Amino acid sequence: MTVNLLGLDEQTLAAFIAEIGEKPFRAKQLMRWVHRFGESRFSDMSDLAKTLREKLVQSAVVAAPRVISDGVSEDGTRKWLLDMGRGNAVETVFIPEAGRGTLCISTQAGCTLACEFCSTGKQGFNRNLDAAEIVGQLWMANRALGATHTHEQGERGERGADDLALACGERQRNSERGARANRAVSNVVLMGMGEPLLNFDNVLPALRLMLDDNAYGLSRRRVTVSTSGIVPLIDRLREACPVALAVSLHAPNDALRDRLMPINRKYPLRELMGACVRYLDRAPRDFITFEYVMLSGVNDGEQQARELIALLADVPSKVNLIPFNPFPGTEFQRSPREVIRRFSDSLNAAGIVTTTRKTRGDDIDAACGQLAGQVQDRTRRVIRMEAA
Ligand code: SAH
Ligand code: SF4
Repeated sequence: MTVNLLGLDEQTLAAFIAEIGEKPFRAKQLMRWVHRFGESRFSDMSDLAKTLREKLVQSAVVAAPRVISDGVSEDGTRKWLLDMGRGNAVETVFIPEAGRGTLCISTQAGCTLACEFCSTGKQGFNRNLDAAEIVGQLWMANRALGATHTHEQGERGERGADDLALACGERQRNSERGARANRAVSNVVLMGMGEPLLNFDNVLPALRLMLDDNAYGLSRRRVTVSTSGIVPLIDRLREACPVALAVSLHAPNDALRDRLMPINRKYPLRELMGACVRYLDRAPRDFITFEYVMLSGVNDGEQQARELIALLADVPSKVNLIPFNPFPGTEFQRSPREVIRRFSDSLNAAGIVTTTRKTRGDDIDAACGQLAGQVQDRTRRVIRMEAA
């Protein structure tokens, strides 16, 4: 059986290397070739012994998902549609900004959670992506962008009005990387299609690789998991790999959140806020980012701003307002700019740092919540199977 090396974190790669009878230090070398330099051909891994290269040809591959299409928006946002087999496809989006580049990665083909305002949620669910398919998005993007978009990872990349991965003073990393280093992407957000925490077992090795100095060497504050709020899994992430956390809130009370996000019926706001506070003990930053999609006349009023301020009183937070991005068939509309500004001003006046996300890439349907990919929905079948 051939193993796809893209999905193996340090431990599993070491086990694989031992299995083929090689010395442990080879794992590190191999990891650098694959992730740091984006190399897929074993024959080109020049400092590996010939016998090892031959063994690898027999037993392993480095295979990222196939690119179906690749589009660049007027504002430079780039979107890839990736083949996930059997009629499924997911999307990966790169957002270039001065001094940094953020990659938005998908974790599932579709999503089971069916939030009302989300295009992915409306399409149903097919399957979890495996670790190689998740990391493969980063590997592929770095390779595709390598020639055109490289920059140093320094402080410059960590500032910005609508920053999702704010940080300060991170030391320069990986300065030994050569000209071929594979580093166009400086920040990763798991905010594409799917609910990352519901695919925990594949997301975890992928996160570990993003952080590994021999792979992508990103700091924990430059990697953000966005979740709709799966309380026990927020706790699990806190134990296993506490990267930056963004929580999709979207409503300041349970009645409205129940309606917009059915997962709230299982994990209501009180429990969610408890998990956020616990997460802060281990988080790489001293606040949680709350995402709040601005839906005209639904969650954007003065009263709701007041409720939100009260809800967040005990949780060190930053709020990121996301102007709703429409998609075909939706009942919602984006809040007018004035309304978003008023809402933002109320929160800021109450001491909650609030930013409004720039809408990027909407001319190529690459904006938040517009990612549709292609999903062969199996949800109904799953429900039928569970009922049987
Ligand atoms: N499932 C995870 C991550 C993917 S969604 C989550 O829900 O957090 C990434 C972000 O885009 C979430 O905050 C989500 O609520 C938001 N979003 C979904 N649909 C949107 C839309 N139509 N317009 C703007 N933001 C949207
Ligand atoms: Fe799933 Fe997130 Fe979309 Fe909700 S917002 S349906 S959790 S991808």
